[in-house]
Amino acid sequence: MQDKNFQECVKCTVCTAYCPMAAVNPSYIGPKQAGPDGERYRLKDKAFYDYALKYCLNCKRCETACPSGVRIGDIIAKAKLESESFKPGLREMILANTDLMGSLAVPFSPIVNKALGLDISKKAMDGILGIDHRRTFPSYASETFVHWYRRKAARTQKKFERQIYYFHGCYANYNFTKLSKDFVRLMNACGYGVRLLDKEKCCGVALISNGMGKQAARQGKINLASIRKAGAPVLTTSTTCTMTLRDEYPHVLGLDNADVRENIQLALKFIYEKVESGEIKLAFRDDCRKRIAYHTSCHMERLGWWIYATRLLEMIPGVDLRILESSCCGISGTYGFKKENYEYSQAIGKKLFDNIRDAAADIVATECETCKWQIEMSTGFEVQNPICILADALDVEATRALNGVR
Ligand code: SF4
Ligand code: SF4
Repeated sequence: MQDKNFQECVKCTVCTAYCPMAAVNPSYIGPKQAGPDGERYRLKDKAFYDYALKYCLNCKRCETACPSGVRIGDIIAKAKLESESFKPGLREMILANTDLMGSLAVPFSPIVNKALGLDISKKAMDGILGIDHRRTFPSYASETFVHWYRRKAARTQKKFERQIYYFHGCYANYNFTKLSKDFVRLMNACGYGVRLLDKEKCCGVALISNGMGKQAARQGKINLASIRKAGAPVLTTSTTCTMTLRDEYPHVLGLDNADVRENIQLALKFIYEKVESGEIKLAFRDDCRKRIAYHTSCHMERLGWWIYATRLLEMIPGVDLRILESSCCGISGTYGFKKENYEYSQAIGKKLFDNIRDAAADIVATECETCKWQIEMSTGFEVQNPICILADALDVEATRALNGVR
């Protein structure tokens, strides 16, 4: 059945005022026209497809702003997936197949990381694939998180009375394993065993934005089957994975997740709520004297859960937390890697980069991995997931004792 959500539009154009792409690119028609207005035409005839839809970042800031709850970003994402003219090429396949690329790269990570940083490789990728030579790739880990978990952590998890499952996502598995390892350490200190899903595939966000909806749906079905089988809270450390599993599966891929949607939670929200209810107690060291600038990623803004992250960070003694004005960093996953998008990507991010420099913080905090790449590359500031900041500041022994962990 056709999703009629576009009919809720009252034509106020608030969404266009909040669209970061419309602000920097006069060729982009904006969310109102690309979303609900265009959908009326597309329903009559698919030939009404507008090529300007390719400019949409899928940041969902328009959805957050819309007073009528129109799922504008989802409407545009679906229109792109259904269009005959929006087909992925080799570049899209390489950028979107994060599981495949990660599995191939990790065993050779010292060589791969070196090669990705060389000027000659960057120029070759720019010329042959259309990946902008100014973009920095995230480095690969020497061992995947899953491999480390099986080797070092799996055996000890069953001893915990309380159990959660972890949807680690690609970045915390193939690239930045400090995040996933810190998450296990933090949850264990709080008295929770961390289990991995039976089968986990990339959530599919990069496949969706690169025109590979069928593959995204296949992976989504595998993930949902594993989440159903888990039958316990499934926590994530990435806002984008969270939003994809909870909201894009039903609205963009047509996968019914109603029975498990509320089981899929951002770890920071889960932890904060347990702290509030007294089920988790946290103890921090008192030597963490840092100014932290918190960046609300677009998908965190859409989820509306940044308050949980900032409240937890404020619990660390000595932290001076500055919450930055919420604005898009411009990278939007694989979008900013593409040559034709690079200038738009940096123009969109400029306001955020200036705000970060003005905040003069020691560190920037955000839950989105691609915001981390963009901010580190564009400002030189170190960016950490709040989970890592909490884990680094934790007094592990005191927290274990408070939560009755032996
Ligand atoms: S903000 Fe919502 S209601 Fe207003 S024009 Fe945009 S889609 Fe329509
Ligand atoms: S998802 Fe972002 S880029 Fe796309 S129309 Fe909405 S605000 Fe603009």
